[in-house]
Amino acid sequence: MRLDGKVALITGGASGIGLATSRKFVREGAKVVIADINLDQAEAAAAAIAAEGFEGSVAAVRVNVSVFAEVEAAVARAVEVFGKLDVIFNNAGIAGGKPLLEHDPVADYEPIIRVDQDGVYYGILAAGRQFRAQGTGGVIISTSSIYGEQAAELSFTYSAAKAAVISFTRSAAYELAEYGVRAVAITPGRVGTPIINQFSEELKAVFASEQLRNKLTEPEEIANVVAFLASDEANVINGTVVSVDDGYSVFKQRLD
Ligand code: NAD
Repeated sequence: MRLDGKVALITGGASGIGLATSRKFVREGAKVVIADINLDQAEAAAAAIAAEGFEGSVAAVRVNVSVFAEVEAAVARAVEVFGKLDVIFNNAGIAGGKPLLEHDPVADYEPIIRVDQDGVYYGILAAGRQFRAQGTGGVIISTSSIYGEQAAELSFTYSAAKAAVISFTRSAAYELAEYGVRAVAITPGRVGTPIINQFSEELKAVFASEQLRNKLTEPEEIANVVAFLASDEANVINGTVVSVDDGYSVFKQRLD
């Protein structure tokens, strides 16, 4: 019960990493608001977790993280339902990309920047203000990616947005330390969620081979780390990137 008594808002909580993290947080004693653009799926996720013996510990709210007023409203909803906010997990994201010179400069740039970059900025701003108003401190965890630290095929825009998440995390840790707020980014590698599962078995095998255990990471494995980072046990992890990529970033090529 390492999150006993904490209240968390988890964006993109209806699927993949966010869903696994919502379930893990509740099992660790937290109250969770699942915030997602897909309200039906968020409500279904909340109902499923509640039915596992956690009635009253989980709620759902619709949010488009690209709209600041909606992110503010989601924070306000968490406070209304559970009385306060202790943790925000800025995790909603979309992927995709084309070769750079094939880009439509609006369609292949703006949507990803609006969700993956602006959405995290808005989460930090709205939650940061709430933490300051409460005077309780708080934790901001944001999902970057291995692509936030390197160039990769078909990811010009996505890499930029995910790099911004790392920069936001450093600056937020610095600026919000006086309010007792911590900020951490995570960089997942290849995780078995709808973002990856849409690809062919062949491509998924290639993705798996890029990690040291030669398998896709389970969303639950990321959730375990996020729960630790959100807990008081991680109090000295601040302003930094926690790599959750099963060795992807330190390894180049298998010799066999
Ligand atoms: P997913 O598609 O399963 O979950 C993403 C969730 O975000 C969905 O429920 C979706 O409805 C929600 N969402 C999308 N746009 C939104 C918006 N504008 N407002 C609110 N919610 C919105 O994917 P996932 O793999 O669990 O992705 C979670 C995060 O992890 C993303 O930020 C993604 O970029 C990042 N990531 C994933 C991988 C991977 O291999 N799966 C690797 C690195 C980083």
